[in-house]
Amino acid sequence: MTQGSLGRNSPKKGSGFKVQGSRFPPSPTVNREPMNRESLDEIVLPRSLTVRHLADLLGITPIEVIKRLMRRGVMASINQSIDHEIAAVIASDLGRKAKFQPDESRVKSQESRVPLPDSRLSTPERSVSRLVTRPAVVTILGHVDHGKTSLLDAIRHSNVADGEVGEITQHIGAYQVAVDRQKITFIDTPGHEAFTAMRARGARVTDIAVLVIAADDGIMPQTREAIDHARSAGVPIVVAINKIDKLNADIERVKQQLAEQNLLVEDWGGDVIAIPVSAKTGEGLPDLLEYLLIVAELAELTANPDSPAAGVVLEARLDNTRGPLATLLVQRGTLKIGDTLLVASAHWGKVKAMFDHEGRLTGSAGPSVPVEIMGLSKVAFAGDTFTVVANERKARARVAEFQVEQQIRTPKSPTLDDISSQIRAGESKGLNLIIKTDVDGSIEPIRRSLERLENEDVRLRIIHSGSGTITESDVMLAIASRAIIIGFNTRPEPRASHLADSEGVEIRGYQIIYRLIEDIEKTMTGMLEPTYVEILEGHAEVRASFAVRHGKIAGCYVIDGKVSRGSLARVLRNGQSVHESSVSSLKHFKESVPEMAAGSECGIGIEGFSDFAIGDIIEFYRKEKQ
Ligand code: GDP
Repeated sequence: MTQGSLGRNSPKKGSGFKVQGSRFPPSPTVNREPMNRESLDEIVLPRSLTVRHLADLLGITPIEVIKRLMRRGVMASINQSIDHEIAAVIASDLGRKAKFQPDESRVKSQESRVPLPDSRLSTPERSVSRLVTRPAVVTILGHVDHGKTSLLDAIRHSNVADGEVGEITQHIGAYQVAVDRQKITFIDTPGHEAFTAMRARGARVTDIAVLVIAADDGIMPQTREAIDHARSAGVPIVVAINKIDKLNADIERVKQQLAEQNLLVEDWGGDVIAIPVSAKTGEGLPDLLEYLLIVAELAELTANPDSPAAGVVLEARLDNTRGPLATLLVQRGTLKIGDTLLVASAHWGKVKAMFDHEGRLTGSAGPSVPVEIMGLSKVAFAGDTFTVVANERKARARVAEFQVEQQIRTPKSPTLDDISSQIRAGESKGLNLIIKTDVDGSIEPIRRSLERLENEDVRLRIIHSGSGTITESDVMLAIASRAIIIGFNTRPEPRASHLADSEGVEIRGYQIIYRLIEDIEKTMTGMLEPTYVEILEGHAEVRASFAVRHGKIAGCYVIDGKVSRGSLARVLRNGQSVHESSVSSLKHFKESVPEMAAGSECGIGIEGFSDFAIGDIIEFYRKEKQ
């Protein structure tokens, strides 16, 4: 975070920080009267001092106070009491002197106060950068029916001047709200499935995940899944405890459940921001937006608006009259009408027209701005990345190059065997797993046993664990995080199986914990031997046998499939295997042939075997790595 960005982003003194045009009430009252002259240098800190109160005394917004506290390593919410000492430091940063109220200056009831970490008192070094701050891109995640869509709608509507609300019809996949002159971009498709599907296609879109938890329902399976998905993406999580208007809302219970997921909220001594909200009444929404600004500020989100634009396709569709349309999120640079766009290196187009999230024609879009564009030659896929290139010739050349690259590229998620051999060769340092079990009770024992296997050299990350069948969402997460899926007494859903096959994600099934642990242990020491499956190729029946120089060959009829020279073979007599080796010679009349199909007669030699009997069946197969 640079001093420059602080200046640029900071609301002006006394500007207040309610959501612009909000139809909801602003944050609880803060005296935003202009300061009188005497108070400019000195402030008197009362006995009980909250963040809001300090902001008031300093004549700045609470968000500004929170930002300054955070920079000094102090997490505090708006209504939380803070230590006088840190308050004095913040005051002095702003060129103000703090006086303590007599008799009360030394009162230090520390219980509810935010402690002051001494080591952070010095002003950090700040470097100046030419990059500009860009709005945060936020995705809403959470369990079904906990209010993700309602929250997105409420935030969108909170940001529209009264009277316009009913007119908003444009849904282009993302929208922006202005909060105290700063902007936040919200992705309009909530849920971790869409979030991870984008990641699986290589797109990193989200800067902050808002985890919605209904206060009357608490953490549910999809909440846990969402937490894992956000964590695996390395995205900061802000919790919105929703539905607090409901009579049976229990905010404390949600905080406790969050702690069980290792998400410690501020009043539990952690640094996770959890804001009670109601998408129905609008309560808490201004606070939520303010905190999103703070987290964005801490994440130091910057981009260069002057470079050629690049970003991600959020949505795409074919319009009967306007042709292929795509909602793009510009991630760096500025996209302009007339730009030549290369999408996923696979097709290209020219930006003919561009619309903002309210459906207005626009001429350019900078970093973190979503726009719908016309002019692509094909319908893109959500998650495709795009770049602006100098001209059509460059775009064509790049598409041609890409097609060649595609033919040689085999993008594939690693298998346990791959990782084992990489570890053996000293090339891999980590193993990512997704664990699905039949029942909840199996998760912990497996988790604990696996965690014990981690060693200094190889890191084991359990990206996600849960009970139930293996879903498409699990496979997406595996693609996005290059993980292997372990199913314990559970199977993949057909669609998940199909996706895993086409994307090369390994799903390994186990029925015995011991075997599962053993395989992972072997993998982590580079000792896992590849497992093979037999693929049956065909059968032939022995109808005669002939002596040749080096033994005997069988005169055969190929019953089904095929026989190939070199293929693995087993000789079956009365259903029992009497010999296993390979096809050493294959002849059609006198001629050696590579392969004979069903229905043909041929002479077959079997490596190391000459004891053919009429009526023997020879089975041909090959082995493939699982
Ligand atoms: P999603 O599945 O997470 O997108 O949840 P929805 O936004 O569709 O909301 C599910 C249900 O909860 C709907 O009936 C909403 O009206 C209701 N709901 C959402 N937010 C609130 C809230 O803050 N308070 C109350 N009382 N109901 C809410």
